[in-house]
Amino acid sequence: MIFLQQTVESTSSVDSFRMFLVTMAFIFLLVLTGKINLGIYLPFLPVPLRRERKRILKNHSRYYVNLPEKEKKRFEQKVQAFIHQKEFIPRELKEVTEEMKVLIAACAVQLTFGFRRVSLSFFKRILVYPTNYYSTINQKYHRGEVNPRVKAIVLSWEHFVEGFIDEADGRNLGLHEMAHALRIENRITNQEYGFLDEKVLSEWEVLADFEIDRIQSNEPSIFREYAATNREEFFAVAVENFFERPEIFKKEKPTLYQNLALLLRQDPSRP
Ligand SMILES: [Zn+2]
Repeated sequence: MIFLQQTVESTSSVDSFRMFLVTMAFIFLLVLTGKINLGIYLPFLPVPLRRERKRILKNHSRYYVNLPEKEKKRFEQKVQAFIHQKEFIPRELKEVTEEMKVLIAACAVQLTFGFRRVSLSFFKRILVYPTNYYSTINQKYHRGEVNPRVKAIVLSWEHFVEGFIDEADGRNLGLHEMAHALRIENRITNQEYGFLDEKVLSEWEVLADFEIDRIQSNEPSIFREYAATNREEFFAVAVENFFERPEIFKKEKPTLYQNLALLLRQDPSRP
């Protein structure tokens, strides 16, 4: 009798353990396939983007919406990783909202989408102001800047949104500042150092100098005057035009366009 009871108990504990294993495997499968998100991020395990974040991308990122399904997944994972890796700091704001985080991350991911492992990792902080802010660096009001000294990318949310609203005017603050960050990241000796092809980059500088000279001599250009400030600003303005009006850029400056497409390993003029 006693023997029989022990058998029943041990059989039931084996069953419970099996049930536990099956449940855990089921949860693991749901996490892997993106059905649920536990809010944990492990760099070696791509975690799917939360539904709310995906909705924000669908509603506001034309770049994301136009990607093929498989690439959408990769974009989402890069957005997730970017949000996880950066510290978002509100300045003169109550908080950095989910929408702000997702759209800022989407901007960085768009620019670096040609590079699987580049996430602008040198930059640890994203500072968000409600509108333009007074910069102590040069005692001027700014809409955005990249500050390598404090490893930060700084953005005015009002102007960031302006860049998103008109997607074809060749002006986009988010892409502009991320482009500055990209060039700095490429020069800094870390795991992402030197990801821009050296030969293509040196060809770019020659073509850029030529175009800067043209703008400074008041010759007509598709780039706004500010692009002629220096090589860094020219690159940032060219990136804005590359994504916002690739057809015009390609038609007016085909060599420059092709060079930038090679450099960034993507071509927005192709569907
Ligand atoms: Zn700039």
